[in-house]
Amino acid sequence: MKTIFVTGGAGYIGTHTTVQLLEAGYEVIILDNLSNSRQEAIQRIEILTGKTVTLYVGDIRDQELLDEIFSTHSIHAVVHFAGLKAVGESVSQPLHYYDNNVAGTLVLLRMMDQYGIKRIVFSSSATVYGIPTTSPVDESFPLSATNPYGRTKLMIEEMLRDLYTADPSWSIAILRYFNPIGAHDSGTIGEDPFDVPNNLMPYITQVAAGRLKELQVFGDDYPTHDGTGVRDYIHVVDLALGHLKALEYVGNHVGVEAFNLGTGKGYSVLDLLQTFQQESGQTIPYQITGKRDGDVAAIFADPQKSKAILGWEVRHDIEAMCRDAWRWQSNNPKGYSE
Ligand code: NAD
Ligand code: UDP
Repeated sequence: MKTIFVTGGAGYIGTHTTVQLLEAGYEVIILDNLSNSRQEAIQRIEILTGKTVTLYVGDIRDQELLDEIFSTHSIHAVVHFAGLKAVGESVSQPLHYYDNNVAGTLVLLRMMDQYGIKRIVFSSSATVYGIPTTSPVDESFPLSATNPYGRTKLMIEEMLRDLYTADPSWSIAILRYFNPIGAHDSGTIGEDPFDVPNNLMPYITQVAAGRLKELQVFGDDYPTHDGTGVRDYIHVVDLALGHLKALEYVGNHVGVEAFNLGTGKGYSVLDLLQTFQQESGQTIPYQITGKRDGDVAAIFADPQKSKAILGWEVRHDIEAMCRDAWRWQSNNPKGYSE
């Protein structure tokens, strides 16, 4: 049985990926400092899968702890989710973001190198495409960042490319996520932001659950079919399955490759709102407000490379994403804290 070390495994995408890893027969070791997640999520994973997870509550910047973990367990590969992800917060606290995300990854990579663990799947983001002039975007599009969060992803990508150049025995998959939404169809794990959500879907589900009053739609005069921003929403379980494909890939190849994980379809804010209302039977009050600084009008993926090389394809449509997001939120109106 192969052991996968999952950093940030208690978080939204980490929990969903851990469930898929356990179900595929991997053993999972999680390191998470619980800065944006709750231990309850791990218990839910264990109940859901009937399997156990080894959890280390700690920080990826803690070299001694990594030393202890890597000397105790025989690790096949690392899936690296741990990181801070709030764009606005990264603008007000850039050093915190560079420290946590960039310096944290540096410690992790150095320790992996020391222990000869040279397979990694890294959580990058479509934000590394900056403000693309056209969509779909493929992996060869120019890269840039519009805020410190995006810059941390870009810097880590560069670090990984340099690492491979210096030592071609590394095997590195960089996964550029588009917009993960939805939840496991059991309704027992899902997205549970600590603060008021920054992202659209958790905001909508919290309005539906009565935790927030109304949705603000950021701008309705973009050059899109209804004037609101267009994104490529992807079911978090499809995203999780992309990590299993990437793990198979890094198990069989050396190199450094970036892969888009998106559906290839774009939906506007109003499209998503309408589909959510239809699938949940809830009415979501909203008002149109000003644009959010730095927002792109439209971006969606070209997922051909992931399909061709990883053999990965999405299975869930936008309706399923909305149903599953609502099942999670309505079963857990206060998230894990209830
Ligand atoms: P999340 O906040 O739910 O999960 C991240 C986890 O990492 C949390 O459990 C947090 O406690 C942990 N963590 C943060 N810093 C840590 C540290 N220094 N040491 C140990 N643990 C630490 O976020 P998520 O949505 O699951 O995102 C996972 C990854 O995917 C992140 O790197 C994020 O930047 C990236 N990503 C997310 C999205 C998205 O929309 N959710 C999109 C693109 C990329
Ligand atoms: N959005 C919105 N209201 C919100 C949050 C987001 O209108 O409260 C819009 C946002 O302008 C963008 C889309 O919804 O067009 C997706 O935003 P999100 O923050 O989820 O993803 P990102 O912009 O980072 O891709």
